[in-house]
Amino acid sequence: MKAVRIHQFGGPEVLRYEDVPDAKPRKDQALIRVKACAMNHLDLWVRKGLPGVNLPHIPGSDVAGEVVEVGEYVTDLKPGQRVLLAPMHFCNHCAKCVAGLQNQCPEFTVLGNRVDGGNCEWIAVPAVNVIPIPDNLDFNQAASVPLVFLTAWHMLVGLARIRQGHTVLILGASSGVGIAAIQIAKMFHARVITTAGDEIKLERARELGADHGINHYQQQISEEVKKLTNKEGVDIVVEHVGAATWDQSMKCLKPAGTLVTCGATTGPNAGFDLRFLYSRQLSLLGSYMGTMGELYEALGHVFAGRLKPVVDRTFALKDIRDAHEYMEKSQMFGKVVVNP
Ligand SMILES: [Zn+2]
Repeated sequence: MKAVRIHQFGGPEVLRYEDVPDAKPRKDQALIRVKACAMNHLDLWVRKGLPGVNLPHIPGSDVAGEVVEVGEYVTDLKPGQRVLLAPMHFCNHCAKCVAGLQNQCPEFTVLGNRVDGGNCEWIAVPAVNVIPIPDNLDFNQAASVPLVFLTAWHMLVGLARIRQGHTVLILGASSGVGIAAIQIAKMFHARVITTAGDEIKLERARELGADHGINHYQQQISEEVKKLTNKEGVDIVVEHVGAATWDQSMKCLKPAGTLVTCGATTGPNAGFDLRFLYSRQLSLLGSYMGTMGELYEALGHVFAGRLKPVVDRTFALKDIRDAHEYMEKSQMFGKVVVNP
């Protein structure tokens, strides 16, 4: 089969579209024909080099496709079924896994990070990862859902305990996590303030339900948040930008507010004054993906049409270098999807 592999870390030029051995399912696995694989910033980090990535490596976390064949232990999936994949690898038998806390499993990793991912024609995965999708969701839309909607759900619902009446600051409205978080926060009847780098993106964010938009190139985030909240600040900040916004994000929190972060796109090192943390009784929460239970919860709302994936554009899998270059420029609003 054809797949995209990296044999060394580096720029988009290390991505090779090449022949690899066909994927074969084990007895507890299903073989999926990949129809769409959505990209995430993780694809770029993996390509540039992350610890634990063994070479050669197939990237790609968010897969939608069709069941081709199932192993003999798999009784609830049938060839031809339209499905998406839970974008994670876990052992499924440790104490954390059986308690439903898959993202705390010692073996936990994101599909396409420390295990081969979906930038290929066929992928074999444990049946527990395979989730049927309704007909009203096309493959590009379905592939755009799992990682970002699960991440945003775990951040807002699982960790920060969002509820009606909260005010939430969501950084990076045009990112996958931003798009998911805006919709989830609105579903919980929270007031949403979001940020983006231009007016067009802010308008798109308002269409998704955001109440207020801040242009982070022209306005200072904390000043605008103060104005919008009568100097109170927000209950929850959804962070994934990292070094460039951390200081602003901390300043936006009201007393006893919660900052929850799942990324560090602009850099991992951020400092803060400990006195500010304890005297204002703030909570700083780290979030990594989510659980299978949370994925099913979020998907229920996607399948019912209450949460909507946003596809920016698609590329052919063989043009994977163009897709990475496009991602690097950060001009998109929504997901970039590759099609084998
Ligand atoms: Zn486990």
